[in-house]
Order: sequence, then C-alpha cells, then structure tokens
Amino acid sequence: MNTLYRPELLYSNGGFIANGEVLVSRSGQFLETPEKLSLSSTKIVDLPGKALLPGFVNVHSHSFQRLIRGKSESRIVSGKDFWSWRGTMYHAASQLTPQDVYDVARMAFLEMALAGTTTVGEFHYLHNDPNGRPYDDPNLLSKQVIAAAQSVGIRIVLLRTAYLRSGHELPPDPGQTRFFESTTAFLENMDALIGACSANQSEVQFGVAPHSIRAVPLPDLKEIAAWSRQNKLPLHMHVAEQIAENTACLREYGFTPVAMFNKERLLGPDFTAVHAIHISSDEIAMLADAGVTICSCPTTERNLGDGILAADDVMAAGIRVALGSDSQAQIDPLEDARELDYHLRLDRQERAVLDQMATKTLASRLFDCATIHGARALALRGNGLTPGSSADFFTVDLNDVSIAGHSAEDLLPIIVFSLDRSAIRDVVVNGRSVLDDQKHVHQEEIISRYKEIHQRVWQNSQTGTSSSRKQ
Ligand SMILES: [Zn+2]
Repeated sequence: MNTLYRPELLYSNGGFIANGEVLVSRSGQFLETPEKLSLSSTKIVDLPGKALLPGFVNVHSHSFQRLIRGKSESRIVSGKDFWSWRGTMYHAASQLTPQDVYDVARMAFLEMALAGTTTVGEFHYLHNDPNGRPYDDPNLLSKQVIAAAQSVGIRIVLLRTAYLRSGHELPPDPGQTRFFESTTAFLENMDALIGACSANQSEVQFGVAPHSIRAVPLPDLKEIAAWSRQNKLPLHMHVAEQIAENTACLREYGFTPVAMFNKERLLGPDFTAVHAIHISSDEIAMLADAGVTICSCPTTERNLGDGILAADDVMAAGIRVALGSDSQAQIDPLEDARELDYHLRLDRQERAVLDQMATKTLASRLFDCATIHGARALALRGNGLTPGSSADFFTVDLNDVSIAGHSAEDLLPIIVFSLDRSAIRDVVVNGRSVLDDQKHVHQEEIISRYKEIHQRVWQNSQTGTSSSRKQ
C-alpha cells in the first residue's frame, strides 16, 4: 500500500508550502501524486503541527570515535593539537571487540537518526584485530558497522578505507596497527565485501576511501583510484586538513596534495575532498574545474583546531560543499551547516557572508549542504523529496520552543540557525519509520550497551600514549 503524508508545511525549493503532500510507494520511493488518489490503496498520514523536510546526509563519519567524546578535552591527556589528539583516539580504537564496534556504531547512528540524519557515509578504517592481524573474515568489522546501520535503520555508504603507512619516512605507529592493509589486500577485501552485501543495494552502498596522502603513497593511490573508477564508486579522501600534511607532501613529492592530485588526474566529479581547509586560490580553481565536492566537518574542525574552510571562495568558484560529523564531537547536521557561515563571520567580522551568492538565500544554501550536496557526494539515488528518490525524510514540531513563531517564509532560516534536536519528531528512511514521535525501538538497549563499553574502555585509563609526530 502507498502512503500519503500530509504535513502542515512541506519543504520545497528552499522554502515551505502549506497543504503540500508526498506520496511514498511500498518499496520506499517518492511517487508523483496523481490527480485522483485511490483511497482504498493509500494509507493517509496527517501531520498537523509538523513540517516535513528531506533527511540529512552525513558524508563523513568515524562511528567508533563517538567513544572519545569528552575524553580528549585536556592538554594533559591529549596534548595540544590534532597530532597528539590521535593518541586518545587510538586508545579507544585499540580496545574494541567486533561486538563493541557494532554497539558503538549503533550509538553513533542512533544519535544521527535523532538529529534527522537518514544516510551516513562511514569512512571506516578499523580492519584488523588488536594485534594487527586480519580477522578470519578481513571484512568482519566493516560488516559490523553495516549491521549497526541496519539495526538503527539508517542508510549507509560504507567508505572502506585504505591505510597503508604512518607517513613519509615514518616507522609504523603501533596505534594504527588495526588500520593497516596492503593495497592488494585492500582491493581484494573491497571486492569481497561488495559481493557479500549485494543483496541490500538500496540501503547499503559502497565507496572507496584512500585515507590521505600521508597514509597512502602516490603509486598506491593511483591504483586504488583506478579500481574505484572501474567500479564506478565514489572516491573520498582526507585532503589538506593540517598544514603539516601539506608540508610533508611537498617534501615527498614536490607538490601540495591538491596540486599533485590535479597533475595526476586523480580529481573528478566522483571525488570528495574531506576538509580541504589549507588550500590556495589556485587549488580552489583546480577542485572547481574537476567538479570535486568538498566535505566540510566544522564541528570537528573547530574541536581539533584544524582551521576554517574558505567556504565563500569555494562556493564562489562553484564547488559543492557537503557536511560530515567526522569525530562525533557533536552530531548535529544543522550546527555543521550554520558554522560554515559563523566561522567566516568571526574571521571577517561581517554577517551572512554566504548570503545571496548565485541568488540563493543563506539558509537555502546551507540546507543544500546538509542534504542534496551530500547525496551527490555519496552517489545516492535521487534528490530530496522529488519523485523517484528514496523516501528519506524527517518531520519537525512547529510548536517546539526552539522554532515556534514563524511564517512559511522565515521557517527555513529559523530551522537552519536555531532548531534544537527536541523539535525533530519522526524520521523515515526508504519509506520505513525509524523514529516515531522521537522514539526509536532500540534506544534503551543501544544506550545501555554503549554505557557498558564506555566504562570498560576508559576504566583506569591514562591515555597519554599520544604521538605528537606531525604527519
Ligand atoms: Zn575524518
């Protein structure tokens, strides 16, 4: 049976319309609403007092890092920068059993669902057992993360990550022992994983993620990118998150990462550059010419002190910007969206820096970053609430204290700049209910399992194992 949703306000082209409706097929796709609807074969869902919007797409997540929330906010424990912060992250990574990987991912994905996220791009680099040996099934942990997304009910694009070395002229870092594979093993495992999961194509998809130029030398990167393109998969990579990463690349190859990728023809419309903070105007032009998407992760980037994306220059060049929760310091797609502009405001001492570019309003531009640009970066089918797209959406309570008092005209800026998670009531993925009036069926069990793991991982722990190596 098809389902017709009738919200009080329906998101449409950067605004809202009253008395709009969306029709969803039994298989979970939006349909054209016919002039005359057969009421005997259609279930009607009235949503008075609610607005209906397309679901958020989280393009860049490391689900296990949910465990380090609150544990790395001390210089004594985690040092003063990104490089030393990794010690705390590696401590968490070293503790997890396959069951824990599943349960921690469920916690992260539950929080995403509660925040209106309907798809996650999981940049997954935990592969080996704690001693650095592959499991009998080398894809065991990838499958655990996929199973976690299925348990919570959100769509996943597993961006299986190649992590081959610690860095140029660096010995292997023991903290990274669970990440390492050879290129040959990586490609074989990727192939096997896609084969094993082909039955779930609509809600489980794949992408290829060479971790960074620090972790994947150029010859391997070329081989992995060629494989990705042969298989028509999205290609995601950390790029220019830290100045030291650029410096090391210059030292090893004589080029910064973006300039080298451009020279080697590695950039393209299927390429997503995660972070892209420390890039020049020439490099912005290279990314724009190649049709690359930038995935910005502002809540993580400010937490790690990475720097600020020049979103104005990047967007003026026509580059699409998507968003990711990355380290899970916060899971709030709208906070990431608004920070794209807020960071520039603080830097420039001006307001609404990204407004009226290419005639788009600021709120509409930021909302696109959290939705349709993310969908494109992950090669999802369709686009927002349009017929033929997967029925991924959420509703907000128009009487929630954070957004009450609006007209249809100003609702989107109120949502983008001020909506609190308490306003998000229902979440639907592929036509299936994931959150029903803020209730997830597994919520209590997921939180309880997570708390046990959290206690075990951090009991008696001094996480001062951090390396401060700058690449
Ligand atoms: Zn990342």
